[in-house]
This record gives sequence, structure tokens and C-alpha cells, in this order.
Amino acid sequence: MFGGIIFGNIMQIVLATHNKHKIVEFTQALRDFDHQVLSLSDFPQVGEINETGATLLENSLLKARTVHKLTGLPAIADDTGLEIDALAGAPGVYSARWAGLGATYDDNNRRLLTELSNIPEEKRTARFRCIISYVDEKLELWTEGTVEGVILKQQRGTGGFGYDPVFFVPELEKTLAQLSTEEKNRISHRGLAILNFCKLFRDKIQPKYKLKE
Ligand code: IMP
Repeated sequence: MFGGIIFGNIMQIVLATHNKHKIVEFTQALRDFDHQVLSLSDFPQVGEINETGATLLENSLLKARTVHKLTGLPAIADDTGLEIDALAGAPGVYSARWAGLGATYDDNNRRLLTELSNIPEEKRTARFRCIISYVDEKLELWTEGTVEGVILKQQRGTGGFGYDPVFFVPELEKTLAQLSTEEKNRISHRGLAILNFCKLFRDKIQPKYKLKE
């Protein structure tokens, strides 16, 4: 058997998150692959994983390796950061805690707008980058997705979460917070990373399981 437990033709895989939106998004994306997608809610013993990596890739691999080690099942983890060119790529890995530990989305957005208050529009370029890693006993793979945009001078829109209200996508002339969930998933860093991950899954991961059936 290749790195996991197969029930009939169903292979279990663990998503290294408690986030319900991510669980739904990944479960839908992987629905054609005969895999049962579990999450950390099914493994309370795993507990909190400290994201001590210096890069998004290090953090996503660290989470996937830890969950694989503690569950014995193939694991998938994602990590996202907002990279602002005028801030030399910050907040990056610190996006969730940019305004301090326990910061709310609003605290983070307000810090961002303050830091960029003297930066002219043409220099407010930024991107969201999402890395998705996969780890089992034989394989470590990763892929990414990005969306390019500009940080506005004030928040616009009420949808989404996190930095969505300040992240303007020029091609759509809207912030991510002004898009429907479907529109956002089509163009977003995580939507594109999941699409790339599905290709990786089909080409590199699934054939290995099929060989063992
Ligand atoms: P995570 O790695 O997915 O937990 O993302 C880290 C942080 O990046 C989050 O706490 C948010 O502040 C921000 N973030 C991640 N994805 C998005 C998004 O789609 N829109 C806005 N902010 C996001």
C-alpha cells in the first residue's frame, strides 16, 4: 500500500486545517479522485501546529509533514501570504498576525493602510501567494497560485475575509471583497493553487495509488 488506508477504492487524505471554507473548497476540488477528505477536526489529538517557517513553502511543508507524521495518512496543507512590493514583500508569512498576535482582519487592514499612507498608487502593487504542499511516506510535492493586484487607500466591499476589502484587481476593476465566492475562487491565489494541485494529484499522486490497487 502506498502511504495510507484504502477502504475499497476510497483513499483517505487529511487536510491540515480546521477552516470549514477550506475543507469545503478542497473536498469539492478533489471530488473526482475517489478520496475521502478528512481534516484536523477529525484528529483533535494533532493540536495547534506552530508556523515557525521563514517562508510560505516552509510553513505549508511543516504543517503537511506534521499532520502526516501524527496521523499516518497522506496530508495536504496550504499557506497564504500577502506580498506588498513597497514593503519588500511584507507581511508575507506574517499576514495573519501583521498587527500583532490575536489581531483581527480589521486591525491588519488598518495597519496596512497606515504603513502605505505615503505610497503613491503606482507603487502599491501586491500579490496574494498560496502554496499547497502534499506529504506522504514517499512523496513531498507542492504547487502555488498567485493573484496580482493593487492596495487601495481605503476598504471597498463587504464580501470575503482578511485583506479582501483593500486588494483591488485591475482587470476586474473590483476588490476581492466585491466578488462573489465563485468569481473569487476563479481568479484567487487559493483557487488557482487548488487547480494546479488537482493537476499534480492527477499526474503524480493518483497513479501511484492506482498501481497498488
Ligand atoms: P492562511 O495561510 O490561509 O491562514 O492565510 C494567512 C492570512 O492571509 C489570513 O489570516 C488572512 O489575513 C490572509 N489571507 C489568506 N487568504 C486570503 C484571502 O483569500 N483574502 C484575503 N486575505 C487572505
